[in-house]
Amino acid sequence: MLKIAIDGPAGSGKSTVSKIIAKKLNINYLDTGAMYRMCTLKVLNEKIDLDDEKKITDVIDKIDIKMENNVFYLDNNDVSELIRDENISKNVSKVAAIKFVREKMVDIQREIATKADVIMDGRDIGTHVLKESKNKFYLNASIEVRAERRYEELINKGANVIKENIIEDIAKRDKFDSERENSPLIKADDAIEIDTSGLNIEEVVDLIISKIGEKND
Ligand code: C5P
Repeated sequence: MLKIAIDGPAGSGKSTVSKIIAKKLNINYLDTGAMYRMCTLKVLNEKIDLDDEKKITDVIDKIDIKMENNVFYLDNNDVSELIRDENISKNVSKVAAIKFVREKMVDIQREIATKADVIMDGRDIGTHVLKESKNKFYLNASIEVRAERRYEELINKGANVIKENIIEDIAKRDKFDSERENSPLIKADDAIEIDTSGLNIEEVVDLIISKIGEKND
């Protein structure tokens, strides 16, 4: 089965290109970041202190999440928009760093990968979730380019945001994700690194598809 792993920091273009590749290859796409965002929404909804690992573990143990065609359901409610909120982005790294949360999400991700061909994006797909994949990519871009992309995305959605705050938030999140103990953000040794700073979306998509070739896992 085809398993494509796409990792990289925030704003590197992972989800945009993964969605297009999934369509072109007619395979499933799984946005694993959205899963950690749903966990964070649940924890914030329950008003749990983000330092209370025990309570977070209890609530995530029983969490009810569903992913269908890139629509995300928490407790049967469509939360696809809500999980993109700035408040979730600010707190998600902390929740995603908890061992139990990661184990539970990784189990679901691996289960999905056994059922059909998939392209998955995240931070630990090539190093951990789909470690055996032969199709691993690590996307990167300068912090300015990544922040600019996020800024445009949010402005287009009508959000009221300041670019400097976005640069700061992204830098903080990347540092936290890269330095955490459990499955930190790191390029897998056998991943192909692509700097997307000077490339448009189609160029990145074509480059990845050309490298996938006929290789199956
Ligand atoms: O991809 P996105 O920016 O939506 O991810 C949100 C956060 O979820 C990341 O900053 C990271 O803390 C966490 N994450 C993770 N492992 C993944 C995907 C996302 O820890 N595979």
